[in-house]
Amino acid sequence: LSPSDTVEAHRICVCVRKRPLNNKEVTKKEIDVVTIPGNGTLLVHEPKQKVDLTKYLDNQVFHFDYSFDESSTNDLVYRFTAKPLVQTIFDGGMATCFAYGQTGSGKTHTMGGDFSGKSQNSSKGIYALAAQDVFTLLKQRRYSSQDLCPYVTFFEIYNGKVFDLLNKKAMLRVLEDEKQQVQVVGLQEMYVSCAEDVIKMIEMGSACRTSGQTSANANSSRSHAILQVILRRRNQLHGKFSLVDLAGNERGTDVSSNDRQTLAETAEINRSLLALKECIRSLGMDSQHIPFRMSKLTQVLRDSFIGENSRTCMIAMVSPGMASCDYTLNTLRYADRAKEL
Ligand code: ADP
Ligand code: MG
Repeated sequence: LSPSDTVEAHRICVCVRKRPLNNKEVTKKEIDVVTIPGNGTLLVHEPKQKVDLTKYLDNQVFHFDYSFDESSTNDLVYRFTAKPLVQTIFDGGMATCFAYGQTGSGKTHTMGGDFSGKSQNSSKGIYALAAQDVFTLLKQRRYSSQDLCPYVTFFEIYNGKVFDLLNKKAMLRVLEDEKQQVQVVGLQEMYVSCAEDVIKMIEMGSACRTSGQTSANANSSRSHAILQVILRRRNQLHGKFSLVDLAGNERGTDVSSNDRQTLAETAEINRSLLALKECIRSLGMDSQHIPFRMSKLTQVLRDSFIGENSRTCMIAMVSPGMASCDYTLNTLRYADRAKEL
């Protein structure tokens, strides 16, 4: 393999992470229908019924770059997913890491970590772990002389609108210039001098995310949250790492309140997740046409889907319980489609 082959081969990485059954599921004696035998393989034991009412399990097999079972830590998941992408932004590229899956499957736990105090072993998430590695590299001699300055943005996309999580959820406009450059007007880009600075921003933004001041109905499970670590040299963009905690992918079929607001939100989420899949696929196929205008999410992430040096990682989260089986299969099929062809 020549170096360029290696780069091509690793442009898109698609992984799955299974969370453990939670206390509620254990109490309900929920059956674990997801098995991870190793080597990236994952099995779903889908309960089915024959016409004569005899019950059987239909085993569905999936293959991913990595499949992480319920014993894996955030550290381990990070090491195989986002960590290799940190180098990309130092090389002047765009790196993107997505957490995808149904509400409650572990997206925020994986990306933001768990500092709630509810969990016994609070652990750092990919946001904080990536920030630490960015500063480790910045201090290395080969980069410390290069005049690179790190900045952070943190924003949310809810119902097709952008809100700044580092500025009291100010609603922002997205503009595209004649060169197709996309700009989020007024987005706060904070200079950060150490990993602790980034962690402070994450805590501030996450608190802002769940408080829901601007849009009364804003629920963190129905919005995409995007943390970006940006490297600039003399104000010019050098590299950008976008870490995305996506909105829950449930279709809203079992949502009890199917009022107009909820339906509109669901339609918007579906549209953005479909657009995301299409954009990742066109990155994988080196396509000239990237349908980034299909949604606000893909529009603000346009840089992630273009350029020679863009790399993407998707972590699909699944809940192991039988009650979540349909959602789990949906998630796995989506992730399967995002894989490089
Ligand atoms: P999502 O963001 O996908 O809606 P969360 O990350 O909020 O889901 O996870 C739901 C609950 O499950 C949280 O209480 C979280 O702490 C817990 N959880 C998720 N993933 C794990 C994991 N791998 N190990 C332990 N607990 C987890
Ligand atoms: Mg969440």
